[in-house]
Amino acid sequence: MTDAPILPIDHPLMSEPSDPVTDFDGFIAELADEMFEVMDMAGGQGLAAVQIGVPLRLIVVDMPDAMGEQHRMALANPRIIARSDTMETREEGCLSLPDHELEVPRYTHIEVAFTHLTGEDDTLIAHGPLAVALQHEIDHTDGILFFDRVARLRRSRAAGYFAKPIPPQE
Ligand SMILES: [Zn+2]
Repeated sequence: MTDAPILPIDHPLMSEPSDPVTDFDGFIAELADEMFEVMDMAGGQGLAAVQIGVPLRLIVVDMPDAMGEQHRMALANPRIIARSDTMETREEGCLSLPDHELEVPRYTHIEVAFTHLTGEDDTLIAHGPLAVALQHEIDHTDGILFFDRVARLRRSRAAGYFAKPIPPQE
């Protein structure tokens, strides 16, 4: 099942919110396995089910946290329930937009509620690259793309720029 194509970022499905996972039967574990496989083949560190054409709220990540500990996990119905006041901007990529890195502002740390593939509810607090990856993939489940976040920042920076007095001409 490794020939599952990754949808390009301008595919209409990529801008639609995905549906909640309600059945924790064999299908969801199979889907997660396939997502890990597609992510690994593509050399990525995160993937949302919608990126392989399945609009369900399921994401996989393989990312270190701020302490360097690797987290390889699948999260169903992930949602951010708490977040830091601070944001950081880092370079981010997306498997649906190969060879384009963008600087995207993200919360420094977040608390995420989610359901394991077993159907068990859980929460986790993420810092560092893991927090960034989770925010990126959770955005995919809401139909939000990483350049949407950049555009928002550019707009606020532009507003700040134009609010400043015009420097005198030399
Ligand atoms: Zn992405």
